[in-house]
Amino acid sequence: MTNPIARVIGLSALAALGLAMAGPGRAQTADLILLHGKILTLDERSSIREAMAVSEGRIAALGRSTEIMELAGRKTRVVDLRGRTVIPGLIDSHIHAIRAALSYSVEVNWIGTSSLEEALGRVRDAARTAKPGDWIIVAGGWTPEQFREKRRPTQSELAAVAGEHPAYVQLFYAWALMTPAAFKALNIATDADVGPRGKLDEDADGKKTGGISGDTATITALFSRLPSPSFEQRVAGTRAFFRELNRLALTGVVDPGGFGMAPRDYQALFKLWQDKALTVRVVYTVFAQKRGSELEDYRNLTQLLPMGMGDEMLRFNGIGENVAWGMYNNDNPSEADKAQFYEIAKWAAERRMSLNMHWHNDRSVGQLLDIFERVDRESPIKGLRWAIAHLNDASAATLERMKALGVGWAMQDAMYFDGERFQKEKGAEAARRAPPLRTALRIGVNVGAGTDAHRVASYNPFVALRWMLDGKTVAGTLLRGPEEAPTREEALRMYTLGSAWFARDEDKRGSLVVGKLADLAVLSKDYMKAPLEDIGRIESLLTMVGGKIVYAAGPYAGFEESPRR
Ligand SMILES: [Zn+2]
Repeated sequence: MTNPIARVIGLSALAALGLAMAGPGRAQTADLILLHGKILTLDERSSIREAMAVSEGRIAALGRSTEIMELAGRKTRVVDLRGRTVIPGLIDSHIHAIRAALSYSVEVNWIGTSSLEEALGRVRDAARTAKPGDWIIVAGGWTPEQFREKRRPTQSELAAVAGEHPAYVQLFYAWALMTPAAFKALNIATDADVGPRGKLDEDADGKKTGGISGDTATITALFSRLPSPSFEQRVAGTRAFFRELNRLALTGVVDPGGFGMAPRDYQALFKLWQDKALTVRVVYTVFAQKRGSELEDYRNLTQLLPMGMGDEMLRFNGIGENVAWGMYNNDNPSEADKAQFYEIAKWAAERRMSLNMHWHNDRSVGQLLDIFERVDRESPIKGLRWAIAHLNDASAATLERMKALGVGWAMQDAMYFDGERFQKEKGAEAARRAPPLRTALRIGVNVGAGTDAHRVASYNPFVALRWMLDGKTVAGTLLRGPEEAPTREEALRMYTLGSAWFARDEDKRGSLVVGKLADLAVLSKDYMKAPLEDIGRIESLLTMVGGKIVYAAGPYAGFEESPRR
């Protein structure tokens, strides 16, 4: 009997893969087949295929529907795509997903609302179903620019919809609004009660408005006083948030930790991993939590956590995005700050560990690159997938230095939310090239796309993709010029292969080629042909991770496999 898989893809290719040749007597049929579609493979030739066979979690064959159908056996599940577009599963290269997930089941989300009225309606709905005394929390991910009303809510509006419940609404890391019940619950009456640098807003008559203004440290400290979810709520939140990511075609995240993320905050994630219930592949890094003891903490935490520890669903991926406090959001680090950073970076390089660092301004990033170059001379970092996150105003010279070091760029759609402010601060010319996506492609630095969600941005990758293409903010202001706009395919490559690079996984996922993991999404619209303004509204109709259907909707709803409990 001839081997049907061999007939389709050719014996030599099959031998090269060692695939489905696992001994006589074994069924040579596919577990699942996708037919009659438009499969954007993102292979080297940008091939588009009609059909795919999946076997044991991996892509077994690609070709015409009639060819692939020959791999169907009695138990093969067959999905008719009816011309729909399939893309490799999206990967966010910089999203605080683990933290966002912890509170997802107990927070109200304003992502995607287009009016204040609609946003407050979500608070009203949540207040109706909440238990007496429960807090209503909006933890960020919105901006007044997205609302028709172009303004923030007032305290009386919030109190009217929250009812008896204490309510808290955060805007970026700069402001929070609380109801009188919330002020009472937290015992806040004066500026001194919102340390380290909080100010209670007042109107022209000196009357308190319910707003609290502050910096990142202040707002973080305030947020940490809200009741934290129970372990069960954290597990439920993680499950629900990852499903929400699956709904938007995401199959992987690169997580940079975050302020307040103690080891105990990873336990809900670990529980789902142990239960084989993760529906998003996660790689995570350790973020410095305590100023002064960064290296000592890394040493302790990583003794039993070598680089790469884990599996294809969950893996340890090094340190960052706060590598050392002295260099975090600091354009003028002292010699001592730089010496400390060097010591940590050298330690990471010697352990062949990945490192990713948060940096905002091109004018000061040279100080970071000087350290990277010094370390590289002593212990080469090329191949370690070091990265700089943000850097929206990166110059060509900076990108050249990054390219030479093999340092990648984790780029997000911050300008979509915050572009007007950037333009005001740095001018229209700077905004025209923020971020310089085409320049980065030309120089050849590895770019991963992402969002930095969820406190400062939406996690929706299609909103980010649309913004990558058109350069318009949430308010519709055109900021970035066409000279820095990638093509649709280039943008998609940044969100798949480009992001996979940061997880050292571009050989395993990020494109749809034989032998790679079957991580993919069937889209509600044709990403390559849909009008630009519709791209932000694309959703997945079927999302697969390692050949398993983790999310399905509409015509495919019946295909979803229930997660293991
Ligand atoms: Zn950051």
